[in-house]
Amino acid sequence: MKKSILVVEDEEDILALLHFNLIKAGYQVDCASCGEDALKQIEARQPDLLLLDLMLPGMDGLDICRQLRQNEATLDLPVIMLTARGEEQDVVQGLELGADDYVTKPFSIKVLLARIQTVLRRRTETGEDDPAAELVQGDLRIHPGRNQVQVAGEPVELTYTEFRVLVALASRPGWVFTRYQIVNAVRGEDYAVTDRAVDVQIAGLRKKLGPCGSYIETVRGVGYRFRDQL
Ligand code: CA
Repeated sequence: MKKSILVVEDEEDILALLHFNLIKAGYQVDCASCGEDALKQIEARQPDLLLLDLMLPGMDGLDICRQLRQNEATLDLPVIMLTARGEEQDVVQGLELGADDYVTKPFSIKVLLARIQTVLRRRTETGEDDPAAELVQGDLRIHPGRNQVQVAGEPVELTYTEFRVLVALASRPGWVFTRYQIVNAVRGEDYAVTDRAVDVQIAGLRKKLGPCGSYIETVRGVGYRFRDQL
């Protein structure tokens, strides 16, 4: 069955471009040009994914995100934000409100389609992951249950906090984490970690991971992402 995407965008030419390309890529596509219309359509049709422009007349994209996450029926609806350059603060806020990912305009359709596929795929996979299972990416092996990390077969000594940060990132390759989200992932263990300290932890991690340090990418103005393609 075709996956359905609701595109929320007030700029007509971008909307037309997205509509054309998403249909061509085999999706069922609906469009809305303002937040109120978007929420009505979501309630009526339950799309598989929402492509959401942040700057909309009236209710903006962040308001929509907030509403969706407060409502049981739409809590898990995958959201990819469409943003303009310079909107990093909004991106951070959107991710913390529960948006899955974002694409900055002007975007390449190829990149956008890849992001859509990734988000739809990981939504299907969610819930099947064993939190203690070994994470393997390229030359990096992480054993969450045993607190062990290996790079190219050699054990690497990490501090407990570094380890928690690495596990948080690596368990969701391709996801962008804001610093606050990383702090939250680690804070569950009673560690006091500030935003700035996250940068220090990441710098330490990259150094200790050597050739695998580049697996952790900086997402400028937003946070960090563990690469999903090496
Ligand atoms: Ca707009």
